[in-house]
Amino acid sequence: MKILVPVKRVIDYNVKVRVKADGSGVDLANVKMSMNPFDEIAVEEALRLKEAGKATEVVVVSVGPQQATETLRTGLAMGADRGILVKTDATTEPLAVAKILKGIVEAEEPGLVILGKQAIDDDCNQTGQMLAALLGWGQGTFASKVDLGEGSVAVTREVDGGLQTVSLKLPAIVTTDLRLNEPRYASLPNIMKAKKKPIDEKTPEDFGVDVTPRLTVVSTAEPAARQAGIKVASVAELVDKLKNEAGVL
Ligand code: AMP
Repeated sequence: MKILVPVKRVIDYNVKVRVKADGSGVDLANVKMSMNPFDEIAVEEALRLKEAGKATEVVVVSVGPQQATETLRTGLAMGADRGILVKTDATTEPLAVAKILKGIVEAEEPGLVILGKQAIDDDCNQTGQMLAALLGWGQGTFASKVDLGEGSVAVTREVDGGLQTVSLKLPAIVTTDLRLNEPRYASLPNIMKAKKKPIDEKTPEDFGVDVTPRLTVVSTAEPAARQAGIKVASVAELVDKLKNEAGVL
């Protein structure tokens, strides 16, 4: 069984994000970009399923600019078998990505698609759900455990009240939460090997998808600076401050 893992190139999670002077967005010039952390977890899970003999091939796919090849190479260095780059310089929105992924799914026929639960740049948390809806497949979102059986998958989900386990008929969509696994680092020999692994290039037009953004960014602003905290000497002083200064009691 083939597993498809969509991986997004995003601003690295260690970078302090800066807003452009004109407020039109986030400054991406000369900023380190990496694979979306939830997608690393998705690649790791797919690789573990392959190593357990439950999958035969792991294909990584990215929709983005030419540099997204680096993101695909990271996935290949972790152990994925091949990559697909759907090249576009447009800002990708979840619906357009989901439509492109639908086209790839129809061509590749994977048994499972594992996505991140959200991309840390736009925090949309939509693509997996939209893809499931477009395909008419079952979805197990926010997975903290994936148990792949014959023709079905049991997904333990992190929900507000705790954990919920859903059983899905394959093919299905899974989106990863933080506690699913700890992704491996790519070793140097594997980074070298990844350079020889194939990456197919496509365009959104190959799937009949118009990626023109549907959303307009009205403005982007830094969050208000947080005020420094204070130390109180006693519980009585704390209660007094909460009552008389903060007005929350
Ligand atoms: P989002 O709905 O934007 O928060 O993204 C959720 C997940 O969809 C990500 O973790 C990726 O697995 C996938 N995804 C979103 N955008 C892209 C993209 N441009 N290329 C590949 N995968 C993507």
